[in-house]
Amino acid sequence: IIIARGIGKSFHDFQALTDIHLTVNQGERVVICGPSGSGKSTLIRCFNGLENHDTGDLNVNGIEVHALAQGMRQLRQDVGMVFQQFNLFPHLTVLENLMIGPLRVRKQDRHTAEATARKYLERVRIPEQADKRPAQLSGGQQQRVAIARALCMEPSVMLFDEPTSALDPEMIGEVLEVMVELAGTGMTMVVVTHEMGFARKVADTMVFMEAGRIVEVAPPGTFFTAPASARARAFLDQIL
Ligand code: ATP
Ligand code: MG
Repeated sequence: IIIARGIGKSFHDFQALTDIHLTVNQGERVVICGPSGSGKSTLIRCFNGLENHDTGDLNVNGIEVHALAQGMRQLRQDVGMVFQQFNLFPHLTVLENLMIGPLRVRKQDRHTAEATARKYLERVRIPEQADKRPAQLSGGQQQRVAIARALCMEPSVMLFDEPTSALDPEMIGEVLEVMVELAGTGMTMVVVTHEMGFARKVADTMVFMEAGRIVEVAPPGTFFTAPASARARAFLDQIL
């Protein structure tokens, strides 16, 4: 569903991504980890067109991703993204936050959009919060709204960029639980996280990045017990 062939990206004279080759198949769960500044966010932002790669080829759900090509609108529909900061609209209720994408982008009627929104609020287990505003919710609840909002677009793949790292410790579990359940539905997921317990549970593939390169790609069984690179080993020693 995602095919990256040799993609590179620089910011001015800083090379943020170098020669990235990565394939994510339908239904696959890929967890990306690596030190701060290694390019994890930049890479997944390329996958939904928030960043443009400079070199190489990137195909997402059949769309060739180039600098603001016409496929962008379709890409944004097909690829859901959840950020560290929840990025909800503060002036809208939870339900309105969930309905706005389906109404504006998918051109659903209000009735359908509301039904979709309620379905996914149920899925993230906060149906009773529909009429609140984001500021009235806990961080964990806000992040679950953000996940539901992405799901309302019925994307083919969901990207997560450190979805729990802005949360208080007691709220991390509830968000990870929703993500584990989502994995159980067969959703294709690319997750940047340092939550290695989550990674062990749901990842089909672990990707380790450093200095803008993919250093290692391995199934979790191998990655956690016998990482091939000294760098991945050092990284794991540090965070586990
Ligand atoms: P973290 O774990 O801290 O989130 P990361 O692996 O997600 O790190 P990126 O955010 O992808 O790293 O950043 C990779 C490198 O690119 C960093 O050195 C960063 O400073 C640089 N970078 C990212 N975005 C920009 C930008 N818009 N302009 C200039 N440099 C940038
Ligand atoms: Mg990042």
